[in-house]
Amino acid sequence: MTDQHAPRPAPLTPPTRHDQHGRYPKATSVNDFVHNLAMVRSRIESACLSVGRSASSVRLLPVSKTVDEASIRLSYAAGCRMLGENKVQEAHRKWQDMADLSDLRWSVIGHLQTNKAKLVAHFAAEFHALDSLRLAQALDRHLQAEGRSLDVFVQVNTSGEASKYGLAPDDVASFLRDLSAFSALRVRGLMTLAVMSGEADRVRPCFARLRQLRDRLRQELPEGMALDELSMGMSGDYEIAIQEGATVVRVGQAIYGARALPDSFYWPVTSP
Ligand SMILES: *Cc1c(COP(=O)(O)O)cnc(C)c1O
Repeated sequence: MTDQHAPRPAPLTPPTRHDQHGRYPKATSVNDFVHNLAMVRSRIESACLSVGRSASSVRLLPVSKTVDEASIRLSYAAGCRMLGENKVQEAHRKWQDMADLSDLRWSVIGHLQTNKAKLVAHFAAEFHALDSLRLAQALDRHLQAEGRSLDVFVQVNTSGEASKYGLAPDDVASFLRDLSAFSALRVRGLMTLAVMSGEADRVRPCFARLRQLRDRLRQELPEGMALDELSMGMSGDYEIAIQEGATVVRVGQAIYGARALPDSFYWPVTSP
């Protein structure tokens, strides 16, 4: 993947879970959002019940990327108080434009270039895609300068796809040890994107891998670090993620409606 800005041509495959226009109509009123949020929450609850977990152990993070300000304000009126955004500049612009909503917080969930660390350090409450020491160092430096701290999730590549985002599972232990040097970063857990597939049998092992890795790492964590959270699951697969242990699910289209652009616009889905 070389150009992150040009939309890629639509894939020549049949519709998958990532082609969701029929399934997720655009929410256009507070009532639509109340309804969609209740729907997602009830499915979260069912998924929890199916594996004997408490629904309160899963946080729903609505993802508002590409959604316009008017719609975001409707979702705020319906109760959303933290929103996930994939691209930092878009998130920063929305943070500025909606500064009047003083209890609305922003979670940056997509890949971040080191030269944009300063922006994240300035306004974000949470960052889900930490994947390099250079980035950790840059974030920590800017956070220290601002007198802020940031909740971070380490992104892990569990699909084995040749995506450049996310650490290889085997590299996470030493990465966590190095992270303990950065006192402005509060390591909360791990994050992953499952393989892009409509087949549960291919998706589930990605989530299981992240949980197993977390359980293993917990036994040898640096002093003072916890690894409680697993950020995994999106509109098409959050129930599977919950069955495999997700504590944060990042759900966009099932709340806001289908996006116009394919997922390949937001992250690499094939090898470069
Ligand atoms: C867009 C996005 C999501 C949410 O995807 P939906 O299909 O809208 O639920 C989750 N995680 C990341 C990193 C994203 O970029």
